Amino acid sequence: MSTEPIRTLYDLLPDEIDQLVAGLGLPAYRAKQILQSLYREYPTSLDELRQLPLLVRDELAAQYAFSPAEEVRRVVSEDGETTKLLLRMSDGTLIETVLMQYPEPGERHPRSTVCVSTQAGCAMGCVFCATGQMGFERNLSAGEIVSQVIHVARLLKANGEHVTNVVFMGMGEPLANYAETIRAVRLLTDPRAFGLGQRHITISTVGVIRGIDRLAAEGLQVGLAISLHSPDEALRQQLVPTAGPHSVQDIVSAARRYFTATGRRVTFEYALIAGENDSPEIARKLVALLRGTPTHINLIPVNPTAGGYGRPSRGRVLEFEKVLLDAGMNCTVRVEKGSEISAACGQLRTDEANTIISLEELSRAPVAPVHGHRQGAPAPGPSQSQ
Ligand code: SAH
Ligand code: SF4
Repeated sequence: MSTEPIRTLYDLLPDEIDQLVAGLGLPAYRAKQILQSLYREYPTSLDELRQLPLLVRDELAAQYAFSPAEEVRRVVSEDGETTKLLLRMSDGTLIETVLMQYPEPGERHPRSTVCVSTQAGCAMGCVFCATGQMGFERNLSAGEIVSQVIHVARLLKANGEHVTNVVFMGMGEPLANYAETIRAVRLLTDPRAFGLGQRHITISTVGVIRGIDRLAAEGLQVGLAISLHSPDEALRQQLVPTAGPHSVQDIVSAARRYFTATGRRVTFEYALIAGENDSPEIARKLVALLRGTPTHINLIPVNPTAGGYGRPSRGRVLEFEKVLLDAGMNCTVRVEKGSEISAACGQLRTDEANTIISLEELSRAPVAPVHGHRQGAPAPGPSQSQ
């Protein structure tokens, strides 16, 4: 399998489309037509860029692949709020993308958050994470990241809905694929491309310090979530085997720098694992660690995976939360909903026990109708509060 992602029109920033059009000797308005088609109509082939003369389409086809993400499987949670997609990239690589919908009070349309993958697999090896356990396959290109959002936008458009938020919380470590992640953010937020507000995007990282500092210097307003999982260095290294020896302290310092540079408080994600990091003593250590740092803590009762790491009882979760709340920390528990469809990162690809909707059934499958108010995993913790 190729390790180099394939370049498509969805890899090109608007300025680069301008240059491409100029290079083909075409009038500048052709760039606008291409961009409008790509980011408003969500075509599935170059033939659908109908405003363009056939000759121009042929020229484009000669230079750039046009390979939309192909949907292989779709699984919808019982309440219809979480839709998990298994998508095939043009070289056969399989990745996961999740759509999470929440009713918005006073709004006609729900909040529709797309959780994108940035890598096939992941090299970080977190012990409770299905993606971590499958190892690293390859980085995704910016175009492959964007095409996940385009695919969901196409599904939603059929219901008169649209993508409102994007979280980089699917398979892979976004900051270990830095350049393509940032390019994807720029494509998703450029008003001439997908046009989403920067504050509607959240990047989640396991704690790649150099990446956090680079991101802070980009002049972007995207949200940052850091997966901390433990206030204790030794325990964190057990859970995140690739973490450095001072990862906890390094992460808290980096979160402070991110806040200073961007004015945006960092969310700490904390996967609660029974018998590992869920005791009230550890909660008190977490309070001591984070006191004075502007932050939001998102407690995520872990979705059980093959690794044998289990979810604490509800009482235990509430007890942990209470320690944080009593200490005045800003904290929420993410209510898992997608677990029956293996909605945690990397699980669909590895879990054969799912009720998979076959391709013939796809046309009849609902695209996440909205009711209730619960969410799946990995869910957009930080974007919830924006
Ligand atoms: N690599 C990045 C982003 C992808 S993982 C990161 O680690 O932050 C997104 C989130 O899902 C992380 O907070 C991760 O800890 C969490 N996660 C992974 N496996 C999980 C599981 N089995 N149950 C609950 N959350 C999980
Ligand atoms: Fe990679 Fe994030 Fe999974 Fe850890 S939790 S293995 S960093 S995807």
